[in-house]
Amino acid sequence: MKAVRLHAYDQWPSVDEVPDPKIEGPFDVIVKIGGAGLCRTDLHIWEGQWAPKTGIELPYIIGHENAGWVHEVGSAVEHLKPGDAVICHTQETCGFCLPCRRGDDMHCLDSTFPGINVDGGWAEYLKTNARALVKLPDGVEPADVAAHADAGLTAYHATKKANLDGAMMPGMFSVIIGVGGLGHIGLQSAKAMSGANIIAVDTSDEVLELSRGWGADFTVKVDGSEVDKVLDITNGHGAEVVFDYVGEKGALESAWAMTRRHGFHYVIGYGENVNVPTIDIISTERSFIGNLVGTYVDLAELMVLQAEGKVTLHTQKFALDEAVDAMKELHHERLHGRGILIP
Ligand SMILES: [Zn+2]
Ligand SMILES: [Zn+2]
Repeated sequence: MKAVRLHAYDQWPSVDEVPDPKIEGPFDVIVKIGGAGLCRTDLHIWEGQWAPKTGIELPYIIGHENAGWVHEVGSAVEHLKPGDAVICHTQETCGFCLPCRRGDDMHCLDSTFPGINVDGGWAEYLKTNARALVKLPDGVEPADVAAHADAGLTAYHATKKANLDGAMMPGMFSVIIGVGGLGHIGLQSAKAMSGANIIAVDTSDEVLELSRGWGADFTVKVDGSEVDKVLDITNGHGAEVVFDYVGEKGALESAWAMTRRHGFHYVIGYGENVNVPTIDIISTERSFIGNLVGTYVDLAELMVLQAEGKVTLHTQKFALDEAVDAMKELHHERLHGRGILIP
């Protein structure tokens, strides 16, 4: 099959002919890829940021946002059959450890993460396991939802956590910094599940205009006055929740400054270090909250929002052969919507 493989860090990957993946265990499933998302994490992988964490040997197939159709199943898989449309949760979890029993898929003690520490989905076929697959509701096409596997799911998961924490009630404020690939799903999810007033913050007028359509009650342009503007909107207090989908280029400092006393600063975008005096943390009781993708259940719920039309992914499609072009577009901030590779 054709696959996009990374051969060296800081060098663009190449499209190679490689052997098709094979069923090895009874719960394995081979998915015929219908669409695979391009994520900023793929750029961070290419830069080598993930190398010390995963220790994966090169070359390998990148791509962790995958959806398609079941192609072949292992001997123990009875609830899935060839042709079923599915989206792949990013983790192949074990199902037996305590985090798995608690439904905490991302912290499974014996999992693999296709595209990060084993071969991923920028290819014609992907091997994963039966526990990872969420069947798509009727009428939902794999290529339209692939990026939900990580981007959408991460945004949904963070929004759901803040809701469950009671931090997005009517009369409260939620700030979304960076209404890009993740942020626009966070915004639509917030609208679908909370009563909070939503403030979209972005560098682009065009994105802010789109944000109003996605449900933002207020929009604020990043021009150096964004913290003051958010403080004005929130009566000088800041927001109960600030979702930082950027995590670099000064967004971190702004997000912290926009968070009100006893509020939550959700760290979702990443790249730079947190440098906050500890006395500020204790004296205002503000919290930093980390976010890592989401659970299988979160993904199934997000597919319901998608099927009901409450969440829509803004995408730009590319052929698998154009993977490097798509990466360059994202690298140079020219990509509008989420890049999706179609084999
Ligand atoms: Zn991703
Ligand atoms: Zn487990």
